Amino acid sequence: MEDFAKTYSQMTDGELLQLSEECDGIIPDARIALMQELYKRANESPQTNKGKSGVSVVVPRRSYGIIFPQMCPGCLRTDIVNDVNFNSLSHRHFRFTHTRHDYLSIKIPHCDQCAKIVAHRRKQSTIYMVLVAICSFGLGIWKDWNNLVPVILLLVLSLPAVWYSRVVESVDVGDYNEEFIEFCFKNSVYADAFKSVNGLTKADVAAERKSLFLEAYNQISRPR
Ligand SMILES: [Zn+2]
Repeated sequence: MEDFAKTYSQMTDGELLQLSEECDGIIPDARIALMQELYKRANESPQTNKGKSGVSVVVPRRSYGIIFPQMCPGCLRTDIVNDVNFNSLSHRHFRFTHTRHDYLSIKIPHCDQCAKIVAHRRKQSTIYMVLVAICSFGLGIWKDWNNLVPVILLLVLSLPAVWYSRVVESVDVGDYNEEFIEFCFKNSVYADAFKSVNGLTKADVAAERKSLFLEAYNQISRPR
């Protein structure tokens, strides 16, 4: 029970909300710990951002879309010329024949220099991952390993590549649904500008977050 409480308390807002959507059939202890954490987050003051460094902002999805400030999220320069793509957390949908992953891809304007750095690192880490995959599975076939060994090797060896590309990215797109999208910005000046151009006051951001967590809490506390 304490283990579940500890695990959930270390998750980001987005991870916790996504978990609450996928929690059918989890054991009672885990469900209770999850409910407690959701209730706690609904009632704590905003900006206590768990897990990741940066400012997390939940924006309502409006008909005219989300507006990004006229500055680079990486260096705050105002000559923004390039869009960089960011993918949200994905949602799994189980079908009889296959599993579908849905996610949002959002274009965020950057300055030329930051856009190039991000693109370059992502490309390098993709090349590295492909090479690691070929080597892991090649070695697996050569040494006649169990299939699981190359998969574990690949997972472990891919961690540095994930870090290498993520460390230069200043935006993280978290969870989403029809009503909201969650962003995490490394730079608090950019985060404030983002809230301001989207017409969000501090109270709006707090209220939005509270309602998300209360909704998730009500959803999983309902007897089924
Ligand atoms: Zn920049």
